Amino acid sequence: MITTSHNTWAIGFDLDGTLVESFQSEPLPAVLEHLAVLKQRSNLRLFVVSNQAGPVYHAMFAGSAKFPTCDQLAERIADAATRLGLLDVPWFVATWHGNSRIYDQPHEIVGAWAKASGEVADQLKFEIQRRLPDLALHVSGSPHWRKPEWGMLEQAAWLLGVSAVSMIFVGDMETDKEAAIEYGAVYVDAEQWRSGEVVL
Ligand SMILES: [Mg+2]
Repeated sequence: MITTSHNTWAIGFDLDGTLVESFQSEPLPAVLEHLAVLKQRSNLRLFVVSNQAGPVYHAMFAGSAKFPTCDQLAERIADAATRLGLLDVPWFVATWHGNSRIYDQPHEIVGAWAKASGEVADQLKFEIQRRLPDLALHVSGSPHWRKPEWGMLEQAAWLLGVSAVSMIFVGDMETDKEAAIEYGAVYVDAEQWRSGEVVL
């Protein structure tokens, strides 16, 4: 058991594969029950972070149906936030595409991808807020925001007024673990949290 009974703690959650089925909005088993308990705790601040580069790929690969548009992704995120009952916690979304091979390309191409990340961030934010105007939503195309970088965790800590050592991050991928540990937060595996093996 990780003791979070003193001071103010922040617990961040990855979205896909942690709170909901990947690329869907259905909460995973036991998630709603565990969240209900955490929401009762007055010294806890919850938040959600998510890498979502799909619309950038959609834009760069000329509308490939493999990847969601901003509108489709906004619909899914708004639906997930509603089903999870996480409408009153901050959300952080990174749209950077995270393809490091891009840096081997001519600078015009690197620039086009960077521009798309920024434009998608603005558009995605607009589309989500159109559906959920009161959601505390933060979207950025910055490379530093995309996990395994820890920009979203740092931004959450600043916003919530906690330090890295008072933060727990729950995720399902190596990139989640890397972001948490590099930032100095405690990492918890989503499967262990959902199964009750690790109690927060
Ligand atoms: Mg995930």
